[in-house]
Amino acid sequence: METTEVVIAGSGPTGLILAAELRLAGVDVVLVDGLPARTGESRAGGIHARSMEILDQRGLLDRLLPQGRVMQAGHFGGLSLDFSDFHTRHPYMLAILQSIIERELDTHATELGAATQWASPITGFSQDGAGVEVEIGGANPRRIHAAYLVGCDGGRSAVRKLAGIAFTGTDATVTGMLADVELAEPPAQPFFAHRSGPGDFSVVQLQPGWYRLIVQRHDMVLERGAELTFEAFREHFMELAGTDFGMHSPRWVTHYGDAARQAEQYRARRVFLAGDAAHIHYPAGGQGQNLGIQDAVNLGWKLAAVLRGNASDELLDTYETERHPIAARVLHNTRAQTALMRPGAHTDALRDTVSDLIDMDAVRTRLGLMITALDIRYDTKSDHPLAGRRVPDAGLTTADGDTRLHRLLQQARPVLLVLNGNTVPDVAQWQNRLEIVTAETHTAQWAVPAVGTVPAPAAVLVRPDGYVAWATDESSTAGLIDALTTWVGEPA
Ligand SMILES: Cc1cc2nc3c(=O)[nH]c(=O)nc-3n(C[C@H](O)[C@H](O)[C@H](O)COP(=O)(O)OP(=O)(O)OC[C@H]3O[C@@H](n4cnc5c(N)ncnc54)[C@H](O)[C@@H]3O)c2cc1C
Repeated sequence: METTEVVIAGSGPTGLILAAELRLAGVDVVLVDGLPARTGESRAGGIHARSMEILDQRGLLDRLLPQGRVMQAGHFGGLSLDFSDFHTRHPYMLAILQSIIERELDTHATELGAATQWASPITGFSQDGAGVEVEIGGANPRRIHAAYLVGCDGGRSAVRKLAGIAFTGTDATVTGMLADVELAEPPAQPFFAHRSGPGDFSVVQLQPGWYRLIVQRHDMVLERGAELTFEAFREHFMELAGTDFGMHSPRWVTHYGDAARQAEQYRARRVFLAGDAAHIHYPAGGQGQNLGIQDAVNLGWKLAAVLRGNASDELLDTYETERHPIAARVLHNTRAQTALMRPGAHTDALRDTVSDLIDMDAVRTRLGLMITALDIRYDTKSDHPLAGRRVPDAGLTTADGDTRLHRLLQQARPVLLVLNGNTVPDVAQWQNRLEIVTAETHTAQWAVPAVGTVPAPAAVLVRPDGYVAWATDESSTAGLIDALTTWVGEPA
């Protein structure tokens, strides 16, 4: 029987990132997908700041930026949220098709040795203390023995169902329909949304000459598998917009609902769920793909550390404790956004009120940091203002010259960064599991979203996913040994 360390089900953005993260740590991976080949469906229309930072941490963002379009604002329930003063190198939304992101991630994962095995659906598994035996169906049925199985197999996840994990939440109340088309008579504005009758419609220019038209109807719920033809889409659009802008040459027509469900557990012993397999919700605010990318980056280094014998199994439980509340919050905010988009005079009044509130900086910032995921704070058992936050991408000078902090994370290894001539603590017992970097920081103060400005620390321990495990402002290293033991592993 074929053996590997981790089987990943699903070669969407979540599975691709996870495969690459594991390969960076030298873990053997088999990445399978049930489809015969990548569909190239455009799907998600953009990514947010924290996902851009994560892709940048691994050196992937430079390939993506030229293929996308910077949009200074995102939205909450269709109400504009300006991100331009957020403390990140990427204070904007990058409009870029999921198909482009998948193509680049596929190249990256393949270069690292995790090419997708297509036409290989997972059809079953059994597990015991020693590992998971995974059944692959399709034309080439086989069994693979692995230490872990991760279901990144989308909203209808076979892995989730086979694991018997409940997927609870709320049913659909609204139908979104979209068509990626060319327009013979395009509107003057490249991007706009309009409330109209039983729903609303919007137009987004994806690329020159190519548009995404969206209709949202609150007076009907289309069954999940129901067909939506281009002609039916055109009729819905005409009814709400009064024109079809001369739409033609559809590349993708689809519909979706606002069912919001989350896996009650993200782990069943040796089996994990990530991405849409763990949570589905309305694409309001554009958060789903971002959640999947961030799930994968949270789980990858933890699996690698446990597989290498560096860390104990307990580290794997922190995947669920850290990521489950983040997705629950997204489900919650998409429900609020759907409520804000319903037709009628009462919602119009609510929208006016919320719009007035968003004009207040504190409200705009609170909502924007949630949508961009820049405000996440994981519980690292420390009250230092940086602890549990994503580390800022501070400018640094090291012995090798000028760099910036996120570049230090390219190999997905933990980093102990000692700044401004402070003494490097004795961490010999974690040698070879940790990058130790000494540097001067370019600014005495670091700006941290949701916190404010804090003095650059004397030393900081950064996890491979870019979150701060420990920081100190003085020469004291109190708490460092505990943090290393928790996040890097037992001392040698
Ligand atoms: C219209 C629309 C607009 C969206 N807009 C945005 C947006 O702007 N921003 C954003 O962040 N998100 C957006 N999303 C959400 C985003 O598309 C998803 O969250 C994202 O695709 C999830 O990625 P994933 O890798 O977890 O799952 P998927 O992309 O669904 O990939 C799952 C993979 O698993 C495979 N698979 C299924 N069953 C099996 C099996 N048994 N064995 C092996 N493989 C299997 C599938 O073939 C598929 O390739 C949007 C979604 C839609 C529908």
